[in-house]
Amino acid sequence: MEKKIFNPQVQENDIPSKIVAGLERISEVFKVLLWEKAKIVGLSPIQIQILIFIAYHKQEFCNVSHLAKEFNVTKPTVSDAVRILNKKEMIRKDFSSSDSRRYSIRLSDLGKKIVSETEDFADPLRNQIKNVKQADLESLYATLSTLIYQLNQNGILTVQRTCYGCKFFDKVGNKSYCNLLEKELFTADIRLDCLEFEEKTTAKN
Ligand code: SF4
Repeated sequence: MEKKIFNPQVQENDIPSKIVAGLERISEVFKVLLWEKAKIVGLSPIQIQILIFIAYHKQEFCNVSHLAKEFNVTKPTVSDAVRILNKKEMIRKDFSSSDSRRYSIRLSDLGKKIVSETEDFADPLRNQIKNVKQADLESLYATLSTLIYQLNQNGILTVQRTCYGCKFFDKVGNKSYCNLLEKELFTADIRLDCLEFEEKTTAKN
């Protein structure tokens, strides 16, 4: 029988339900922190997320289609956000690809400045997490990274770039290995958003 996760009485005797309810609380933290920054710089949360994403990801991901998948919003929502960012001169549209209808998005100098003012929005959460013991951190990270990959494989999370879904990832016995970096990957080495990630052909994304 399905558990009624958000019924506190169900949670009392069910740790998975407690964890899911806890993750829901933490998702609220992201909303609160992002809104605080949004008010300061006069942008919406999704506009800030787009700017920060563009700052650190390769051009092939910096387009409306990918951003919609990355942030699980519609393409019109991203197009609207991009239009306003463009009007505020925080981004530039780059039409230099072979398909003249498509453009990728680059940051302007003003956009870079806004990124530097907003990208620390999640620091309060990190400051709490960093006080956890190293062994517990690694265990939490192992659970989180696996969960993210599994949710992607189940079709719930659209985008993931963990080692587990990467074509360079290999399992040799119990050991994880990156064929690109040519090294064994311990728990702390598993990447969550690897710049060299290339999707495994059998993986669903
Ligand atoms: S290339 Fe990156 S994502 Fe792929 S296995 Fe190596 S470290 Fe992991």
